[in-house]
Amino acid sequence: MAEAQGESLTSLLGDDEAKLAEKVIEEINLEVTGKVKSKIAAFQKVFSEKDEPEQARRKRESVLLAEQLCHQEHHRVECPACKSVATVQGDKYGREQIENTGDEIIVRQSVIPTKFSCKACDLTLSGYSELIVANIADHFTNRVHYTPEEFYELVDPNDREVMDSYAEDNGYYNFSND
Ligand SMILES: [Zn+2]
Repeated sequence: MAEAQGESLTSLLGDDEAKLAEKVIEEINLEVTGKVKSKIAAFQKVFSEKDEPEQARRKRESVLLAEQLCHQEHHRVECPACKSVATVQGDKYGREQIENTGDEIIVRQSVIPTKFSCKACDLTLSGYSELIVANIADHFTNRVHYTPEEFYELVDPNDREVMDSYAEDNGYYNFSND
């Protein structure tokens, strides 16, 4: 965090404190990495020991569930343990991008993933750092489609920020094209 803001821990803290803090961060990182890697390995092993029809059945169910969850603010990723289709969900950040196509209104928002779950092998991971270790921490865009009627019912006209964002995005036609 400190580095992202262009300052090293050393400039924020004294030399000794900085060394200690860096050591602690390193230890936490190693601990998370070790914990996540052994968890993935354990679930991989359990899954690989199931017979093939059972593996196939679980993979199919996982695909179907991911398909549903996609419409509920989840994002599809490959499970790091069993390679089935699984999903992540997380915290929204930044401003909503609102696009009005005439027939429908599409609201997009960036999400930082913080939770992973796989229906096929039952692996779950929690926290951005765990997801980074598992290589499934890419930020994604949530996209929700509304009919104009649904949308106007949803927006509180007293909510200045949303109304301004809507007006601005529609005025400039400045849409993200993910
Ligand atoms: Zn899995």
